[in-house]
Amino acid sequence: MILQDNQVLSKLLGIPGLKINFISQDTNGDTIIRATSTLHGTKCHVCGEHICKPCASGSPIKLRHMPIWGNKTYIRITPLRYVCEHCANKPTTTQVVDWYEQKCSCTKQYEKHILLLLINSTIQDVSIKEDISYDVVEGILERNISTQITWEDIKELKYLGIDEISIKKGHKDFVVIVTTMIEGKLKILAVLKNREKATVKKFFNKIPWRLRQTVQIVCSDLYIGFINAAKEVFRKKVQVVADRFHVAKLYREKLENVRKKEMRRLKK
Ligand SMILES: [Zn+2]
Repeated sequence: MILQDNQVLSKLLGIPGLKINFISQDTNGDTIIRATSTLHGTKCHVCGEHICKPCASGSPIKLRHMPIWGNKTYIRITPLRYVCEHCANKPTTTQVVDWYEQKCSCTKQYEKHILLLLINSTIQDVSIKEDISYDVVEGILERNISTQITWEDIKELKYLGIDEISIKKGHKDFVVIVTTMIEGKLKILAVLKNREKATVKKFFNKIPWRLRQTVQIVCSDLYIGFINAAKEVFRKKVQVVADRFHVAKLYREKLENVRKKEMRRLKK
């Protein structure tokens, strides 16, 4: 398949319906992609009718996207606006697209990238590595709690991974990221609002029966709530595996205790 230049770029960015106008590098070395939406019209936010009469656009916005060649990358776009002729007072609506949410500072693809980075890591670490604030990472977690999953697109769920992320600043203690492997790639399935057994179990029970049958391994930390939730929903069929990160943490602790004890003995 030979793609036109613009289609190639749009495909590489993972955003269909985008026309790339200009790519530049700013003084910080960040990549700035100036683009426009090729989609036409939107739904009126008052009456819900499809509207396509353009009106003056708002200010341009800059959205953080996946890094390109290791550089921080932003998409700069001016959201299109439309006026509704069905409503008496002719309200205007900003075009809604599926790759970013209004008032957010990053694309949905970037949010997924951050969620994957959070696995076996902490909010502080991810915020330092990506050079974004703690609040932005926390906002990404919050926004991705209970998003809908298109189960029809998933053929099988051989492995499930459960990772808890500690939130020290917010009102919550922990959120949970559920992952799976699809065609050899780690994918985010869901972000759960807390690590209670009931919450995890409720999520497992939402998995359609057809897919629940395909689960073979649940990989989690050693938190008993997760282990029991998995055993109760998937019964004997499933193997619960402790994630090596947490196993390593435990044996390192024991080894450290032995080392200290030996040091004290030798000093005597
Ligand atoms: Zn309307």
